[in-house]
Amino acid sequence: MPRILDGAAIAAAIKQEVAEEVKLLAALGIRPGLAVVLVGHVAASEIYVRGKAQTCAELGIFSEVVTPPEDVTTQEMLDLVASLNDRDDIDGILIQLPLPAQVDAKALLDTILPAKDVDGLHPVNAGLLQAGRPALAPCTPAGVIEILKRSGIAISGRHAVVVGRSDLVGKPAAILLLHQNATVTICHSKTQKLGELTRQADILVAAIGRPGFITPEMVSPGATIIDVGINRIASREEFDRFFPGDQKREATFAKRGSVIVGDVHPKAFELAGAYTPVPGGVGPLTIAMLMANTVRAAKMRRGL
Ligand code: NDP
Repeated sequence: MPRILDGAAIAAAIKQEVAEEVKLLAALGIRPGLAVVLVGHVAASEIYVRGKAQTCAELGIFSEVVTPPEDVTTQEMLDLVASLNDRDDIDGILIQLPLPAQVDAKALLDTILPAKDVDGLHPVNAGLLQAGRPALAPCTPAGVIEILKRSGIAISGRHAVVVGRSDLVGKPAAILLLHQNATVTICHSKTQKLGELTRQADILVAAIGRPGFITPEMVSPGATIIDVGINRIASREEFDRFFPGDQKREATFAKRGSVIVGDVHPKAFELAGAYTPVPGGVGPLTIAMLMANTVRAAKMRRGL
């Protein structure tokens, strides 16, 4: 039986550690603060932002949610980020993506002070990360490393194959694995003979954004599979393709009209030595690492 890597439990342990650090900082008169900027009313984004604010409250981190209107201009957003950059009570700034089309997302993200860039998307942090210097690393890939390490899965000397090369997940995940001395292969939409490469993986990281894309034929028996994907499926046909006979998910599907599936086909997990389930694998780590990054930013900014 493959081992299930319990992301929720690992995230809980990290949050506990962060809460302890927050207490130590409080003794020094420091309260880490996170500003989350949420433009307009995207339902999924509102849920994510609520989760972030709630977790901050649980851990003793100050948080502020700023909600500019849907028709906000790039200049207004730049002014907002500049004011957050200037505030001493704000250590981390997170712009919830996606942004409306009229806002120049790149210009905006580049304006965040690298020291407050808790999403790790600023080119300065990307460069520091690549150079192996202390940096605020993107939360999801940092979470991938935490799952592997805290589950006692060896990374050094293993072949890690990362499918996906986004700035948010794939690329930083590959760099972090390289820093842990994995031999890393990065695959993307132009990669040829993808299955031949994924079959060579001791550690397979799927960050593609396509439901069930990694099929059993693409996995080597015993591999560790980290499924970063979060895809909502709402059609009966797709449900039956991924979860035939799954009573628990059937009940969720009947209640909500949809279920979540990762980038890895559930049948492929059966071959794995260990894997992160979806939901409950990588997902919970993202918020935990955001909290860790906010505390880290608070300390780094004060030279601690
Ligand atoms: P992007 O769309 O930015 O990147 C997807 C990557 O997958 C690209 O590099 C793309 O290649 C590659 N890709 C697409 N199709 C193929 C294919 N047929 N074969 C090989 N590679 C392919 O997505 P993200 O990186 O932002 O997110 C990836 C997944 O992770 C999504 O499901 C997302 O929902 C999830 N996610 C989960 C988080 C969590 O907290 N668990 C947080 C963030 C994301 P190319 O570059 O050539 O286009």
